[in-house]
Amino acid sequence: ARKLIVGNWKMNGSLAVNAELLDGIKAGLSGVDCDLAICVPFPYLAQCQSALEGTDIALGAEDVSAHAIGAYTGQVSTRMLLDFDCKYVIVGHSERREYCNESDELVANKVQRALAGGLTPIVCVGESLKEKENGQTAEVVERQMHAVLSVLEEREVCDIVVAYEPVWAIGTGKTPTPDMVGDVHALLRELMIRKNPDAVECVRILYGGSMKPSNAEEFLKMPDINGGLIGGAALKADDFLAIARLA
Ligand code: 13P
Repeated sequence: ARKLIVGNWKMNGSLAVNAELLDGIKAGLSGVDCDLAICVPFPYLAQCQSALEGTDIALGAEDVSAHAIGAYTGQVSTRMLLDFDCKYVIVGHSERREYCNESDELVANKVQRALAGGLTPIVCVGESLKEKENGQTAEVVERQMHAVLSVLEEREVCDIVVAYEPVWAIGTGKTPTPDMVGDVHALLRELMIRKNPDAVECVRILYGGSMKPSNAEEFLKMPDINGGLIGGAALKADDFLAIARLA
């Protein structure tokens, strides 16, 4: 499958800053031969939708409600995201698990809702520093993945993207070795294959955590790393494009 490079803007940007970033990305697409997407804060979906019109860059959101519609103050539905031509939505990012107390069960419900609403969820899993130090990486990602797989129909396994983001690598400049990431990806893929044998090929598993132009190649050349979920480096057009060119 083609590699997928996704920018996660997190809570950054402004109309002015985004305009410059979007112009920079659109101006530098030559030599990029992978699927590209940006996931942006809700208030900027309209701006990004219109800026990306006519390009092959897909748009996504950073979260979605587990509910379809109704009295859920502050939440955003799949239908609202579709109004802005969103294709992707990040679900279960560690920053939402941690700061918004999102449980494995809620994450699974959001994945289910995203799929029912016609969006491709980018499901994030990953262990904390403490969990890594306790040797619990496999146990944690297996628990997180299992929660999601348990609510999916067999055929739906092929409709998700998975992102392995070790929490201790996010925004820290620290990264696991490509071999460590490869092992976790192999485990995640095995879990999905048990539910749907097609997952051997149909699901893209991204790596995320301090990915930048100088280290992207060693990750992206690994056979079971199918792309990247990029935070900080996605806020600079040159860095984002440089990573995309390595994919
Ligand atoms: P950084 O690339 O800034 O480490 O963030 C990774 C991430 O959390 C993407 O979702």
